[in-house]
Amino acid sequence: MSTESLIFEKGAPGRAIPLLPELDVPERPLDHLIPASYLRTEPAPLPEVSEIEVVRHYTRLSQRNFGVDLGFYPLGSCTMKYNPKINEDMASLPGFARLHPLVDDSMAQGAIKLLYELEQYIAEIAGMARVTLQPAAGAHGEITGLMIIKAYHESRGDIERNVVLIPDGAHGTNPASATLADYTTVELKSDARGGVDLAHLEATLAQHAGHIAALMMTNPNTLGLFDENIVEIARRVHDAGGQLYYDGANANAIMGITRPGDMGFDVVHLNLHKTMSTPHGGGGPGAGPIGVAPHLVPFLPGPLPAKDDSGYFWEDAGPQSIGRVRANNGNFLVLVRAYTYIRSNGPDGLRHVSESAVLNANYIMRALEGEYDLPFNRACMHEFVLSADRQKKLGVSALDIAKRILDFDMHPPTIYFPLIVHEAMMIEPTETETRETLDEFIALMKQIAREARENPSIVLEAPHKTVVGRLDQTLAARKPNLRWTPEREPATV
Ligand SMILES: *Cc1c(COP(=O)(O)O)cnc(C)c1O
Repeated sequence: MSTESLIFEKGAPGRAIPLLPELDVPERPLDHLIPASYLRTEPAPLPEVSEIEVVRHYTRLSQRNFGVDLGFYPLGSCTMKYNPKINEDMASLPGFARLHPLVDDSMAQGAIKLLYELEQYIAEIAGMARVTLQPAAGAHGEITGLMIIKAYHESRGDIERNVVLIPDGAHGTNPASATLADYTTVELKSDARGGVDLAHLEATLAQHAGHIAALMMTNPNTLGLFDENIVEIARRVHDAGGQLYYDGANANAIMGITRPGDMGFDVVHLNLHKTMSTPHGGGGPGAGPIGVAPHLVPFLPGPLPAKDDSGYFWEDAGPQSIGRVRANNGNFLVLVRAYTYIRSNGPDGLRHVSESAVLNANYIMRALEGEYDLPFNRACMHEFVLSADRQKKLGVSALDIAKRILDFDMHPPTIYFPLIVHEAMMIEPTETETRETLDEFIALMKQIAREARENPSIVLEAPHKTVVGRLDQTLAARKPNLRWTPEREPATV
């Protein structure tokens, strides 16, 4: 176990190398700054380890994790695509990375220009008039967009609108954002093809006549299916006085092919850490800029990047703006990565990204439809949802299958989401995978289906190869044990 033991168990007194010279100025007591009761009376009990032990410890810890740089990561709805390293090079240029957000505009011309152009690219991709780059994530874009929609209705004296419609397959952030924005959410049923049920939409619009504030939707939806009725849906919601909010987490399927603005949406967020290739996981940082149609531009948060004969500058928002939603200019270096991604792909390249993502998803779906249930059997977009119902009857659940995949150095798909599919497994290969990798994943999924029939215990006891096995996921999320207590007393100084 020596390679697994933790850093407190390593080391010995006197092993740490002092890097600082002895103090040669009088020591200033801290108790005029910090109350004495908060000050340590003894040095912290830290392990004394050599540099190489520290390096090995953290390198080993990093290898206990799984990342997109290590293997296939078909986590549906999250778009875990390869993140080109040139994005990192650009984001670490000192002119970007070390720029203070409060310098005078004259000293930040390149950065403001980048944001100005990025705003235009995002507006073009989404089919919107203008964009705010401030929101720090998709969910943040959602609340910002809903606040804009609310301000719009109120500006027209339309204050009775308190209902936001959300399809039953929606991502949890949609109802959460609507609730935070003080709206009541009403669920829309899906039809047999996996789209919004038009009859149910009609009935719901009638039931809440005069109260519809907005419909929040993603298209393709979380089943990976494109709702062909979207223009009709948009017309009906608009006729009922509502606005349409596009959750752009699934934009990986549509770039350069169609645009939310052309489908009839009024507000759109794009998750730059999904579609535009900023690495994500572990909670951020991300960016969820939103674009709006012309009638909503006055409500955007400000300031917005602008340009005149003397150069680039920040233009303050007008009187109807909902105000800032984030300090400074958003997660600036995420925006630099997105800019680099868009510029290095170009318009044709972005279209090719989406076409390849869709092709890859359909390739896997058709290869696996004989082994797993396919609840909606139609061409998918960049992702699709299988059901492990058939395996469940043999005692093997989607969770067991996900755990078994871990034994083969691949990440499992999203499971149990969307909620409308039993034993859901939501698979998104992305455009960045080779055919060989897709074939390996297909072979693995077929092997697991066979194991479920012939030798279920190997699946039920998985994972066999990972550092930790099956954690109590609820406890791990609700009560994470972030402080490890050493088994023996650490070396004292
Ligand atoms: C990821 C995701 C969101 C939320 O985006 P965050 O950037 O994680 O806040 C919303 N909707 C869908 C469909 C998503 O996949």
